[in-house]
Amino acid sequence: GCGICPKKCPFGAINIINLPTNLESHVTHRYSANSFKLHRLPTPRPGQVLGLVGSNGIGKSTALKILSGKLKPNLGRYDNPPDWQDVIKYFRGSELQNYFTKILEDDLKAIVKPQYVDRIPRAIRSADKTVRTLIEAQASMDNLEEVLDVLELNHIMDRDVNLLSGGELQRFAIGTVCVQQADVYMFDEPSSYLDVKQRLSAAKIIRSLLRPDDYVICVEHDLSVLDYLSDFICVLYGKPAVYGVVTLPASVREGINIFLDGNIPTENLRFREESLTFRIAEAADEFMADRSRAFTYPKMEKTLDTFHLQIEEGDFTDSEIIVMMGENGTGKTTFCKMLAGALKPDGDQKVPGMKVSMKPQKITPKFEGTVRQLFFKKIKTAFLLPQFQTDVVKPLKLEEFIDQEVKTLSGGELQRVAIVLALGLPADIYLIDEPSAYLDSEQRIIAARVIKRFIMHSKKTAFIVEHDFIMATYLADRVIVFDGEPGINARANTPESLLTGCNKFLKNLDVTFRRDPSNYRPRINKLNSQLDQEQKLGGNYVSFQ
Ligand code: ADP
Ligand code: ADP
Ligand code: MG
Ligand code: MG
Repeated sequence: GCGICPKKCPFGAINIINLPTNLESHVTHRYSANSFKLHRLPTPRPGQVLGLVGSNGIGKSTALKILSGKLKPNLGRYDNPPDWQDVIKYFRGSELQNYFTKILEDDLKAIVKPQYVDRIPRAIRSADKTVRTLIEAQASMDNLEEVLDVLELNHIMDRDVNLLSGGELQRFAIGTVCVQQADVYMFDEPSSYLDVKQRLSAAKIIRSLLRPDDYVICVEHDLSVLDYLSDFICVLYGKPAVYGVVTLPASVREGINIFLDGNIPTENLRFREESLTFRIAEAADEFMADRSRAFTYPKMEKTLDTFHLQIEEGDFTDSEIIVMMGENGTGKTTFCKMLAGALKPDGDQKVPGMKVSMKPQKITPKFEGTVRQLFFKKIKTAFLLPQFQTDVVKPLKLEEFIDQEVKTLSGGELQRVAIVLALGLPADIYLIDEPSAYLDSEQRIIAARVIKRFIMHSKKTAFIVEHDFIMATYLADRVIVFDGEPGINARANTPESLLTGCNKFLKNLDVTFRRDPSNYRPRINKLNSQLDQEQKLGGNYVSFQ
């Protein structure tokens, strides 16, 4: 047996080559005829955080729905669904039998932080929709104050949820789950819309929910956050929207490395042809960077209402990527808009007049027509270039939905379209505001590689805002650190090296990173671990060896 399915289930080593026949008997759920199939299930363990990682559309949210007891798994029999007793019988002899028995018989309470937080305001029926009323009504543990504090919700307590930004809604949703007494806590993509500091705070408060006999399960695409959050990991692989397979539980390091390698050594199974690595030098090695053209911008200031941004002077060259790191509300988007000429600095300072192409942070599809029509209208020249096709369009896997109406695309699809549109315009500077939003971990790595390669090939400059630390450090030649008081008085420092910039940024966050020796992935050190203390003492908040 496979260790998850019942004994009669012949689920040994699965060979991906003959998946369809071999896997037919291991279906945990199928929505309807010819629809998506989920094989196996992740196995939660009491007192530990289970992390789930895998592509979009591979069945992570489906698995959460099943484990929360809200969706009864039909074992593939969508036309004649089994009852719960049969389901429990099916899982006999595995840890899942125990789990489902508890869910049903002991009436375990499971609560879920949903993936799509922007749908929350519409779903709330009560007349009073202020954050305070909603969260206080749910509070059944004595941690309300701590939760509000850690998630920085205090200043928005009297605001209507309809008025919250994406990041505020996310923190509100996480907070609402964390203040409730429950036996199973699930968080579906908790880091969306959050900056690095908020991601770490969310991870800390989620981990604080662990008691010896409750369960915590998180789906997460930011691999540093997943790493930090989890005690063990299940990877989901397969073919998005067609089928997903859950691996056996692995340690955090093993699990993430399985995901990156695309290979499960214990099952002798490869589910992706290439493995993903994070060698900083990888992209740069391939090309001779041409840094002959240098540009400068002066010290500037910008006031927006009650927000003040001070920008230190800076310079940049061709074939260079500068990553902007900083908390939400410190003026990164404002600075991008100033570089693009859409916002003028206070006084009479001038930004050099250069041709700028920008991928905005917020993507709102207004175009009537298909993706292909959109590309022909906006970036026909680039789109028809073989080099652009090979470097940008193909790796981002747009062919799957290129003839779909733009207005019907998912968030991750729209993001990839927006990246292609921005890179397809001829420009001196490319401004890419939060490219990883809505992308899964694999798409993030591919997008980072595409952007890096494009900038090297085209010998242009890119300024990129990015909160996924792995992606940010992979992309960056140099960084601009934004600090100060978010929303009030912030500063954009002068561009500096990746090393000194990351040290400055991480020192503010009181967090240190080491590198995984096998694939160079940056990993967060546990607070106060020996490495954490040593690195802090030496001022090495990150190591790039
Ligand atoms: P993930 O969370 O990994 O992105 P999901 O579990 O949300 O993936 O979805 C997996 C697949 O199942 C997707 O192709 C999705 O369209 C499909 N799916 C999800 N919910 C339903 C449903 N209620 N009916 C039919 N198909 C569904
Ligand atoms: P970041 O991109 O770093 O999250 P932004 O540049 O979007 O930050 O915003 C910085 C601050 O400026 C925020 O507090 C935001 O509310 C405020 N702000 C942005 N645009 C305006 C505007 N047009 N009027 C007033 N305040 C604004
Ligand atoms: Mg999902
Ligand atoms: Mg922004």
